Amino acid sequence: MSKKHRVRDWAPLPPALPQDAHVIDNHTHVASVVPFSQALSHEAVEKGQPEIAVYSVDQLLDQAAAVGVEGVIDCGCELPHLMTAIDMAREHPGSVWAAIAIHPNEAVLHGHRGAPGPDGLPVRYKPWHDVPFDEAMTEVRRLAKAYPKQVVAIGETGMDLFRTGESAKEIQREAFRDHIAVAKELDLPMQIHDRDAHRDVIETLLADGAPRKTVFHSYSGDAEMGEIAREHGWYLSLSGASSYKGNTGILESAALVGLDHVMVETDAPYLTPMPYRGRPNAPMMIPYTLAALAEYLDTPVEQVARATRNTTREVYGI
Ligand SMILES: [Zn+2]
Repeated sequence: MSKKHRVRDWAPLPPALPQDAHVIDNHTHVASVVPFSQALSHEAVEKGQPEIAVYSVDQLLDQAAAVGVEGVIDCGCELPHLMTAIDMAREHPGSVWAAIAIHPNEAVLHGHRGAPGPDGLPVRYKPWHDVPFDEAMTEVRRLAKAYPKQVVAIGETGMDLFRTGESAKEIQREAFRDHIAVAKELDLPMQIHDRDAHRDVIETLLADGAPRKTVFHSYSGDAEMGEIAREHGWYLSLSGASSYKGNTGILESAALVGLDHVMVETDAPYLTPMPYRGRPNAPMMIPYTLAALAEYLDTPVEQVARATRNTTREVYGI
C-alpha cells in the first residue's frame, strides 16, 4: 500500500461574494506566495507527485477579484521588501496598498550579522542585516512619507516570543516602540504582529500610548484580551487561524469588539482557512474565513463581509 500523501495543491476557489459585499484582504504577502508555491511544486515533483501551479502576482490578484476580494494591503516587512510592496501598490492603484515595517524577527537580526541567534539558535543572516536597525527604521519612515498614497499602514511590527525567545525581548520591544512613534508621528494605522507576546505587546502599547488606529493583525488572543481591545478601541484583523479548531477565543473576541472593529486578512502564504489548512494561501481564500466568522455570529456572510469592508474603509481610508 502506498503512503497517503498530504495534499499541498491549491484549494478550490470559494464561492464569489455578491457584488455589493466585496472585501479587502487587510494583510497579506502576495509577492511571497509566488516563491512559496514554487517551492511546494518542486517538493511535489521530487516526491513523484503532480506539479503545483505557480501564479504570478497579477494572476493571484485577478483570482481574488473574481471571488469578490477587490483589493489587498500587501505587507513588506523586511528591508529589501519595503519597496516591493510600494511598487506593487504603484502598479495597481485602487486595488493594492502597502504596509511597511521591520518585522520583530528581523529587528533582532539587523546589525548583528555573524552573531549567534538571539536565543543561541543558528540564524540565517542575510546581507541586508548588516544595516543597523536604526538605519532600517529611518528607511521605513522615509518611504512612508515619500509614498503617502501607497503606504496606508506601519506594520507588521510588535513582538514575537515564539521564535526568538526571552533574550530578544527587549530588542523587539525597543523596535516596536520606534514603530509606534513613527505611526503616531505620521498618523498612520499600525498593524501589530503579536505571537505568544500578548502581555508584552499590550503593556508596551499602554506605556507609550497606542496609535489612533491600532490593528492586531492575525489576531490570536482570547476573550479576556478581546475585552482589553474593546476597552481601548483597538481593531482585530482575523486570518484563517480564526477558523481553526480550538481558536474560538478569536471569534469570541470578534463578537466582543463588534464588527465595526473587525477586519479580515489572509497573511498569505500561511494560515490557510479551514477546510483547507495546509494548502497554499492567497487573497482569494478570504471568503472561507468570512464563512467561519458568519457561522459563529449566526449572521449572513454578506452582512459580515459588508461590515468588515466598512471597517477597512474607516481604518485605512481605502
Ligand atoms: Zn504577515
